[in-house]
Amino acid sequence: MALRLFNTLSAKVEEFRPLVGNEVRMYACGPTVYDYGHIGNFRTFIAVDILRRYLQLGGYKVKHVMNITDVDDKIIRNAAAAGLTVQQYTAKYQKAFFEDAGALRIEQPQIVRATENIARMAEFIAKLVEMGYAYKTDDGSYYFRIAKFPAYGKLSKKDFAGMEDGARVDVDEYEKDNARDFALWKAPKPGEASWDSVIGPGRPGWHIECSVMSMQELGESFDLHAGGEDLIFPHHENEIAQSESLTGKPFAHFWFHARFLLVEGEKMSKSAGNFFTLRDLVLKGYKPSTIRYLLTSVPYRNQLNFTFDGLQQAAASVDRLRNFRQRLAGKFADGSSLTMTTLGQQTSKRLRDALDDDLNTAQGQAAIFDMIRAVNTAMDAGNVKSGDVAALLAPLEQFDRIFSVLQDDDVAQMQRIYEWAKAEGREKDISAELEEILRSSALTDAQIDAKVEQMVAARKARDFATSDKIRAELVAQGILIEQTKEGVLWRRK
Ligand code: AMP
Ligand code: ZN
Repeated sequence: MALRLFNTLSAKVEEFRPLVGNEVRMYACGPTVYDYGHIGNFRTFIAVDILRRYLQLGGYKVKHVMNITDVDDKIIRNAAAAGLTVQQYTAKYQKAFFEDAGALRIEQPQIVRATENIARMAEFIAKLVEMGYAYKTDDGSYYFRIAKFPAYGKLSKKDFAGMEDGARVDVDEYEKDNARDFALWKAPKPGEASWDSVIGPGRPGWHIECSVMSMQELGESFDLHAGGEDLIFPHHENEIAQSESLTGKPFAHFWFHARFLLVEGEKMSKSAGNFFTLRDLVLKGYKPSTIRYLLTSVPYRNQLNFTFDGLQQAAASVDRLRNFRQRLAGKFADGSSLTMTTLGQQTSKRLRDALDDDLNTAQGQAAIFDMIRAVNTAMDAGNVKSGDVAALLAPLEQFDRIFSVLQDDDVAQMQRIYEWAKAEGREKDISAELEEILRSSALTDAQIDAKVEQMVAARKARDFATSDKIRAELVAQGILIEQTKEGVLWRRK
């Protein structure tokens, strides 16, 4: 594998190689669990999942760590307002995040939690104070002194010359271009959660969390650090400043940032209120596989604008992939053809070349669909032989190890979200489309196979009344039936 990746730190596409041996050590900033994740968040998590899967496919051992931000300004505020502890408040959203990530077939990284590492964060800050990189204010908070770290700005390419020494900012997220000493540790506020520690009572800032936990799990210097593009500044810039000040060594080698998902040209975000969660879309009748496919249909560094038309197209693409695989499982005449085996090999190569090119998922999908088109035409003409099947399945399987949409567990996931909506009192959001999909899944595969056989038998016996009746029954239950050269195929809507 010759993966080339864009590195935000060098601002160039570079060949990716692990620092040591065959193991890739990577860290991704995880969700802040104060609400349900939206599909913009999942664009980033899926981009990281594609990277992880491709590295694994290339033979690397991947140690992939992700944090759960279960303490930050918003969580502390919301928990206090709800009269709950931080843990009680975040438990529901953590569970939802793992369920949604599973429904989107994101392979689970090793999880670390901020609240479980607070003592380590305090020790880290104590060392920064000893070394002169951090200072304490009168109220008992601690700040990082950015004037002591001349490389500040190297990731975000911002020039902070002329910044005001000692100006401070104490919120976790702040204005771009605003270089200020940032909070490492915040003194307790009445009525809000705080922890006792070697540097006094309080709570960690958001940035220190990722420095401490990434180095704890992956070492002082590791291969790759990932997140959405909004994290470049200040979050990742601050992580570099804290970590490299402490160790004197380069922190992460590669910085990987996914471009924001847009809705009608605007960034999808909680604060703008223009977001969809996975659950919102499933309740409208869209499948998790469709959403995953849509989010990979544009390379991670390009702009992707969310639309319902886009979702329809993604659904059609997933159907075509699944139908094609089903068709390949049919019966073919003996023999083999050089054209088909060559096409299979060329497609595998195109797929690899596309992903090697900074994970060009769109080109990877184009390679598979070009093959599908050519093979469908060949099948219609009877030009695909049984000896060709393995060569054509190989690129399809390789594709699915990355894109992961062929295995159909959509209905089980949709059923779960349907039950959740009922339990949450969101019945009014359950669409007729979702209900129809769930109804159609009431028939087992074997029952559908049996009905399709009866239909075919009736037709052979020229009993069209019966065959039409069975067909109509199946269609009413959301089963789509298609006549192909290899016989009748069915699938669920
Ligand atoms: P948060 O839960 O806000 O901490 O965000 C979790 C991850 O989602 C971070 O890596 C963010 O950069 C990323 N993210 C947030 N909004 C979007 C968006 N609209 N498109 C892509 N990634 C996003
Ligand atoms: Zn982080």
